[in-house]
Amino acid sequence: MSEVCAIAQLGSPVLRQQAEAISDVHDSAVLQLIALMQSTLATTSGVGIAAPQIGYSKQIIIVASRPTPRYPLAPLMEPTVMINPCFEALSGEKLKDWEGCLSIPGIRALVPRYVEIIITYTDQNGALVRTGLSGFVARIFQHEFDHLQGETYLDKLENNRDIYAESEYFKLIANPA
Ligand code: ZN
Repeated sequence: MSEVCAIAQLGSPVLRQQAEAISDVHDSAVLQLIALMQSTLATTSGVGIAAPQIGYSKQIIIVASRPTPRYPLAPLMEPTVMINPCFEALSGEKLKDWEGCLSIPGIRALVPRYVEIIITYTDQNGALVRTGLSGFVARIFQHEFDHLQGETYLDKLENNRDIYAESEYFKLIANPA
């Protein structure tokens, strides 16, 4: 049974730090950290996780879109480990859609995000990957990327009125207007 970490909660200083770049992806501490992120994410119904969320201020994220009770409409993809990720927006177009965060339980918000982005990251084998993302998966990437900059989705809101209690969010998606 793999080890599982507690998720850092909003207010924890590690969520406000700029995460450190990984210099050697083959370092055993890096491999252990990735395994810990994978096993911890697997115990949640989240669709992504960033290393700071389990207490390590390192530039590693996992993007793992899948339909879960938290995100019933999410597309299914292979969980992808991304080391030292960065991105550029393909256009200035942003769309608001729902996000939640394992570090901010109990609420959801409508967060503006770039619709189409080009991302670059190092994979677990040390290869540099450059690819395009759009829609919900691009949204997850931007959410996890922000965690590496010491930011959360609350910092990206246009208006506090876009914050909902999770109970109200679930009512809304069950009965869309
Ligand atoms: Zn988050």
